[in-house]
Amino acid sequence: MIAHDNMIACDEMLACNNREAWNNFLTFIKEKTSATAFSNWLSPIVVIDDTEGEITLEVPNIFVQEYLLSNYKQDLCAFLPVNADGLPAIKFVIAQSKGKQTFSKTESALSLPIISHPSSNAYALKLNPNYRFETFIEGATNQFVKSAAMGVASRPGMSYNPLFIHGPVGLGKTHMLHSIGHYVGEHHKKLKVQCITTEAFINELVDNLRSKSVDKMKRFYRSDVDILLVDDIQFLQNRLNFEEEFSNTFETLINQNKQIVITSDKPPSQLKLSERIVARMEWGLVAHVGVPELETRVAILQHKAQQKGLDIPSNVAFFIAEHIYNNVRQLEGAVNRLSAQSRLLNLKITEELVQRTLSEMLQKAPHEKISLDNILKCVATVFQVRVSDIKGSARTKDIALPRHVAMYLAWKWINESLQMLGASFGKTHSTILHACKNIEKKIEGDETLRKQIQMVERNIRH
Ligand code: ADP
Ligand code: MG
Repeated sequence: MIAHDNMIACDEMLACNNREAWNNFLTFIKEKTSATAFSNWLSPIVVIDDTEGEITLEVPNIFVQEYLLSNYKQDLCAFLPVNADGLPAIKFVIAQSKGKQTFSKTESALSLPIISHPSSNAYALKLNPNYRFETFIEGATNQFVKSAAMGVASRPGMSYNPLFIHGPVGLGKTHMLHSIGHYVGEHHKKLKVQCITTEAFINELVDNLRSKSVDKMKRFYRSDVDILLVDDIQFLQNRLNFEEEFSNTFETLINQNKQIVITSDKPPSQLKLSERIVARMEWGLVAHVGVPELETRVAILQHKAQQKGLDIPSNVAFFIAEHIYNNVRQLEGAVNRLSAQSRLLNLKITEELVQRTLSEMLQKAPHEKISLDNILKCVATVFQVRVSDIKGSARTKDIALPRHVAMYLAWKWINESLQMLGASFGKTHSTILHACKNIEKKIEGDETLRKQIQMVERNIRH
């Protein structure tokens, strides 16, 4: 009971953003350390920025930073974002010199690597330190995008130009864009990379219009940038004035063989933009990134868990990946939640913990794919009877149970009325209803039956 109450309390506390994650970390550490140590070393630390993928902490002096890293690296990894090297992605700022002095790896052996390519202007996006080619897990649905992106990054302006990456939300488009930025920053040091969201581009233009410095901005984009990475171009739709300025910049750069990479939630042809710019976007390579298949989702999950020092048994990883299937960001969220939960309560990761912790994140498999035939076959296999027996009328216990299970699963997974389902079994709707109630009651007290049904359900969905 206590564990359960804790669980609910923890659920409410669990991190949605870095600031909350930091508070959870403090709550966790408070239990483990003396009050004096806590107030000397941890209380003075202040979160000053929680941009996605990285957290900025203000510390009173370098000793606090070193204390934190040498004593709590593992715990920091469990609660906070981690970088590509599996270290906590923390940027430290020393209090007196806020905003000026940051410590990088070379300045202190213990501080963490900070990736910050010199940004050309205030609107340029900081590259997320975790979004690198090395941390992008490949599968059939994203291989093409990854190799196109690597092609562009190794020979900017000379392979596909522009590269247009599109696909639904949460599947790694921004990750790819930043990977290109990192790669170019490291391998073509002379080239100037500008990574920007479409919204930031618009804001920059608005500000420059206001301060009458548009020419400066134009000059910058058209002559000071070698590689332009533009995220979420769909935000340019219905912004006519800005579209024109963007088109001009775009054409000027392309004409100089400067590389452009664009991401979007739709292919160019479906964007409500002028024909001219749509045609220009289709000039180069249009690459689609799709939902990763089960094995890739498992690999992504395991990779993210490993970075957090979390051990997820393979059957549990499959279970999660089966139930969170169309958004990698959610898979990541699941790992973060589990990592905090298992740390806070010192629990092992089991399917049961996952079901309790992630219940509202888990999706049901799409219903339309499940047919009655499929259900009958899977029930027959697991209960070792014949499909014809289930469909028949013999009332022996060996047959009646699987028959009820089949009716229960048909009711659960097939979106049909009880009458229709009854008809498919050659029975009345009240027989189906009776079977469902019977099985629901039995499941509560019968572990074996519960497992058998889980097994059938897993097979049905493949
Ligand atoms: P999008 O821009 O398409 O909405 P993001 O690039 O923001 O998606 O990706 C969402 C999250 O999922 C990021 O944290 C990213 O690192 C992660 N992600 C997506 N695809 C992969 C992948 N194939 N391998 C590893 N991480 C991935
Ligand atoms: Mg994105």
